[in-house]
Amino acid sequence: SIPLGYFSGIGTLSKKGILIKGGNYLETIKDLDTIVFDKTGTITQGVFEVVKIKPENITKEELLKTAAYAEKHSNHPIAQSIKKEYNQQIDETKIKKYEEISGHGIKAKIEEKTVLAGNSKLMEKFGINYKENNNSGTIVHIAINGQYSGYLEISDKIKNGVKQTIKQLKQLGIKNTVMLTGDNKKVAQAVTKEVGIDEYYAELLPDQKVQKFEQIKTNKKIAFIGDGINDAPVLTRSDIGIAMGGLGSDAAIEAADAVIMDDNIQRVVDAIKVSKKTAKITW
Ligand code: ADP
Ligand code: MG
Repeated sequence: SIPLGYFSGIGTLSKKGILIKGGNYLETIKDLDTIVFDKTGTITQGVFEVVKIKPENITKEELLKTAAYAEKHSNHPIAQSIKKEYNQQIDETKIKKYEEISGHGIKAKIEEKTVLAGNSKLMEKFGINYKENNNSGTIVHIAINGQYSGYLEISDKIKNGVKQTIKQLKQLGIKNTVMLTGDNKKVAQAVTKEVGIDEYYAELLPDQKVQKFEQIKTNKKIAFIGDGINDAPVLTRSDIGIAMGGLGSDAAIEAADAVIMDDNIQRVVDAIKVSKKTAKITW
């Protein structure tokens, strides 16, 4: 049975902005030794901005327009940033076909042109001869009718206070911090280095995220914190699954054991403290 103190702990935490879906979860939180984070929307703001447009055999305007048309029907934060940068009316009747390829990007038919917009994996999947580059941001490569047409560089900012939160988590007994992302290695390395997360695994497709998580979790008391639809399978496989209430998809919120209402991972520090304190009072 769950000691009564945990119910009052849940009340205290809900006022701080983290909803725990049961006393047993709050009891488990004090024993966590590993926390795995999603990147976009969890560690970073999930608000992207186009910082560079690099065309190949096409004008800058044409490249941006093509990207915006391809991304028209996507809700991905990357897509939002491209449409914001384009900032013009999109004639939807010109979009003849549209497919979102999870962890890769978009394949679309814009009038008579076949357009690919996505990462290097997408380019490789379709045999496009793309150019590697040394940018620190997320790269959206564009190909038109099988021809490489350049890229857009998109950057996201790390949320305020994350570095401090990671430090506090360590002080509270979290031995391992890990970040999983579908984004590229350069971005993952820069982000984890800046905030002090111990390890990262990048360029993961949704099912690879699940596999990697299964590997990491062996013999651990583990929490996962994420926000995407893709994150639901990992959330259900963790001892404590934590979703972002603001940015989070409905699927993630439903699959989670706890929900952070203001999308600030500092709430996990609060939860560990309350969990530890409650355990002491109860016994
Ligand atoms: P994460 O949330 O870890 O960044 P996602 O699965 O949402 O993972 O995306 C992984 C990668 O797939 C992105 O970093 C991007 O390179 C590519 N991608 C996904 N959706 C799109 C899109 N709509 N347009 C362009 N690229 C995309
Ligand atoms: Mg995500």
